[in-house]
Amino acid sequence: MNPFQLQSDSLLQRLSNLQNAFIEAHSSKSVRDVRKYYCGLGELGALDLVDHDGLKAWGRAADAFYEYGMQTDASTVLSLGAHLCAGAVPVMEFGTVSLREQLGMSTLRGQTVFANAISELEAGSDLTNLQTTAVQDGFTYVLNGTKRYVTNAPFAHYAVVFCCTDPQAGFLGVSALVVDLNSPGVVIAEPYRMIGVAHAQVASITFNDCRIPQDNLLGQEGSGTKIFAHSMLWERTVMFSGLMGVLQQNLDAAVRFATSRIQRGVPVAKFQAVSHRLVDCAIDIEACRSLIASAVSEKNSQRAALLAMQTKVACSEAFIRVGRKVALTFGGAGMQESCPASRLMADSLATGSFSGSNDALRSAIASKMGL
Ligand SMILES: Cc1cc2nc3c(=O)[nH]c(=O)nc-3n(C[C@H](O)[C@H](O)[C@H](O)COP(=O)(O)OP(=O)(O)OC[C@H]3O[C@@H](n4cnc5c(N)ncnc54)[C@H](O)[C@@H]3O)c2cc1C
Repeated sequence: MNPFQLQSDSLLQRLSNLQNAFIEAHSSKSVRDVRKYYCGLGELGALDLVDHDGLKAWGRAADAFYEYGMQTDASTVLSLGAHLCAGAVPVMEFGTVSLREQLGMSTLRGQTVFANAISELEAGSDLTNLQTTAVQDGFTYVLNGTKRYVTNAPFAHYAVVFCCTDPQAGFLGVSALVVDLNSPGVVIAEPYRMIGVAHAQVASITFNDCRIPQDNLLGQEGSGTKIFAHSMLWERTVMFSGLMGVLQQNLDAAVRFATSRIQRGVPVAKFQAVSHRLVDCAIDIEACRSLIASAVSEKNSQRAALLAMQTKVACSEAFIRVGRKVALTFGGAGMQESCPASRLMADSLATGSFSGSNDALRSAIASKMGL
């Protein structure tokens, strides 16, 4: 059974209550409360997308994220995406048996939260320039470097950290280590103050001579680039499915508003300018959901990476269009912080940057098209 296909109003209510708890916990920056929120999701069965034997179907995960987005906001979807798509997925798919046994059940229960750390000061879109290093010493790796813009960093238990194990080998010298963020030598900075996805907690992490057990290496040394690409297939489809749920939730609210707000004696939905604007939003969201379905169905084909990149660009740009149109529909109320639609425009700027900037993805798509 899909745990996200919430069957009863009471479950919907509990998820919605949890959403408020998430926003409050993030606003207060309480690590304990955010972790409690994840445990609450675990109790609801809402994190049941990974298990000991690997991952359940992508389509199911995409549907689950969509339902989740229908109840939450872009910050929450980003946090959950960073945890599941870019953290739990690589650990469960590429981790050693003992690592999966150690973390599998607690991930399912929401007791273990992940982050994913690849971006650096000199390596944003250009991931060939990573400066973070891991040098093997006995049965451990010694990790040094600074990662920035790490979603969930302030409260995550573990981060999947991409680093150079062989600086001479280019992309074949990149490896992925699972780092316990409680380890000596880990320093997590204060979260950035962001205007978009403002309830997410994003911070930089510095590693000073951190000793990481050899068993925490994902895959082989040098397979980091492949593992990162795999996580991005998930983020760009499954997580963006969640963001389409956020848009649909806001469109539904705009339809309710437009059919009940009376001006000149009629609901504003009767003005064609308003109704056609909302129709365009519905078309945008459906088109993106079709792209997601197509990318998910071709996840094992040679076109998987291309489709995932196209999907991410399309969904994040739909966010800009739909966000603007929905907010306009509420008139002045759409500018008030208390109106969820007021956040969509700022959130859309963030969706254009994370999971690969749209410009960089367009460059990658162009090269795949032979341009
Ligand atoms: C809210 C948020 C959450 C994030 N979460 C994480 C996270 O959890 N983990 C993590 O590791 N990172 C995370 N990031 C970082 C994100 O992946 C980077 O911001 C992104 O890759 C861009 O890198 P940059 O910011 O250094 O910009 P740059 O790469 O310096 O880009 C600057 C400008 O140049 C353009 N550009 C760069 N390269 C190209 C190219 N090849 N072709 C065309 N245009 C190009 C960009 O589009 C942009 O307009 C997050 C970012 C945000 C905003």
